[in-house]
Amino acid sequence: MTDVLAAFEAAKGFMPLDEGLALYAAAKDAAGLGLPLLEVGTYCGRSTILLADAAADAGTVAVTVDHHRGSEEQQPGWEYHDAELVDAATGRTDTLPTFRRTLYGAGLEDHVIAVVGRSPQVAKLWRQPLGLVFVDGGHTDEHANADYEGWAPLIAVGGLLVIHDVIPDPADGGQAPYRIYRRALASGVFTEVAGVRTLKVLRREPGDLTLRTG
Ligand code: SAH
Ligand code: MG
Repeated sequence: MTDVLAAFEAAKGFMPLDEGLALYAAAKDAAGLGLPLLEVGTYCGRSTILLADAAADAGTVAVTVDHHRGSEEQQPGWEYHDAELVDAATGRTDTLPTFRRTLYGAGLEDHVIAVVGRSPQVAKLWRQPLGLVFVDGGHTDEHANADYEGWAPLIAVGGLLVIHDVIPDPADGGQAPYRIYRRALASGVFTEVAGVRTLKVLRREPGDLTLRTG
C-alpha cells in the first residue's frame, strides 16, 4: 500500500491524495466482485495505479481508456497544458509514453489493459460487465454524457460508478461531470455511498437503467 501511494504521488496527473484514497477504497470494494475495473481518462496513469493495485489483489484487471491526445483544457495555450507531453515528431500531445513509464515504475503492467481510443467507440464494442467504472475523461457535456451512456449500463449490480470533478457551483468550475452525477442519481438505480470533495462514489442497485436526459 505504501509503495502504491508513493507511485501514485510521484505520477503526473490531477488527482489529489484524499480523492485518490477514496478512489482506492472504492476500487478495493468493487474488485471483490471479481469483474474488471474500467477507467475513462488514463492521462499519465496516476489514478490507474490505484485501480490496478486493487484489481491485482482481487485477481482481476484494470482497463483504462484514453486517446492520449489530451482533453480540450490540456491543449497548447490552455490552463492544463504540459509542454513535456508534446511529441516532437507530431507536435501533438501524447501521454501514452509517460503513462507506460508510470505503470512500469509501479510494477503494475501485468494488471492493466490499456485501450487507446475514443471512449464512445470503445464502449460500443464492450460487452463484459464491469465491477467499477471511473469517469475522468473529457469535461464537455458531449464527452461526459457519452461516457455515462456508454459505460454506466455495463456496471454490474453491486458495482460502483465513480465520477471525478463533480463541482456543484459553476463559480468553481465546469458542470458536465456534476450533470452526469445528477443524471445517475435521477436514474433510480445509483445510490451515493461515498466520496471526498469532487470524487463521488455511487453503487449500482437492481433495476433497469433507462438512459433519460436531465
Ligand atoms: N485520471 C487521470 C486524469 C485524466 S485527464 C489522473 O488521475 O491523473 C482526462 C483524460 O481524458 C485525458 O488524458 C484525455 O486525453 C482523455 N479524454 C478526454 N476525452 C476523451 C474521450 N472522448 N475518449 C478517450 N479519452 C478522452
Ligand atoms: Mg479529473
